[in-house]
Amino acid sequence: MGWFESTYNKIKKGKKKIDIPDGLWTKCDNCHQIIYNKNLKNNMKVCPKCGYHFCIGAKERLKIILDKNSFIEYDFQMNSDDPLNFPQYVEKLKKSRERTGLDEALIAGEGEIGGRAITVVVTDFNFMGGSMGSVMGERVTLSIEKAMEKRYPLLIISGSGGGARMQEGLFSLMQMAKTSAAIARFKSEGLLYISLLTHPTMGGVMASFAGQGDIILAEPGALLGFAGPRVIKQTIKQQIPHGFQKSESLLKHGMIDLIVERKKIRPILMEILDFAFF
Ligand SMILES: [Zn+2]
Repeated sequence: MGWFESTYNKIKKGKKKIDIPDGLWTKCDNCHQIIYNKNLKNNMKVCPKCGYHFCIGAKERLKIILDKNSFIEYDFQMNSDDPLNFPQYVEKLKKSRERTGLDEALIAGEGEIGGRAITVVVTDFNFMGGSMGSVMGERVTLSIEKAMEKRYPLLIISGSGGGARMQEGLFSLMQMAKTSAAIARFKSEGLLYISLLTHPTMGGVMASFAGQGDIILAEPGALLGFAGPRVIKQTIKQQIPHGFQKSESLLKHGMIDLIVERKKIRPILMEILDFAFF
């Protein structure tokens, strides 16, 4: 038995004092099994044992979905400010930038899927919960306008559990109206908008552009909604049904069109684009 198996067996048996090098294993949030990180990475960060979809960053997402080396990032030359002098906002922005290597909670640009040009925006949960401040809202809007100008289809992949960014107050909430208006203009031109919802997408993001796709796809088991289950439970003082606000429940109630496993997202997008632009 090699080191790998013996360590794995010890962990499985619940022995605590084992010297494990950092970053080698991950415990699945759903089935609590131990997964070798290399296997997790090779499986697009989906648990090989139970199919749980881990959050992934915007850069990883682009790699999975777009044709190799096709992405060109839009350079909008704008960064978040602190309009309300909100306590610790500047520090949080700085930490998120260092942690993710992104300058905001999204990446926007254009690339190709199966050789077809597309404008793509991806929000990143690791950057302040993927929350929408004024710069994110403006960048989403400008991306929609770019797609309109070039007559490209638009794909927005949301992973925004943070909703509207509370540190910017009303400036954040205004982005809901602005991005929604841009989507409405985009649709009035007869162009195709695909929204892909990933765990978790909530609040002001879900209630604006993320919920407005011509076609709305979602990853399995994603938490999707406006107010979170805990807030609703406290407000209505009632038990919430099992699986409430999960992708499967939204599909059942007609809020989304299709649940797609991560490895099937690219082939499904290719199929949709082929169908729309035959
Ligand atoms: Zn699992």
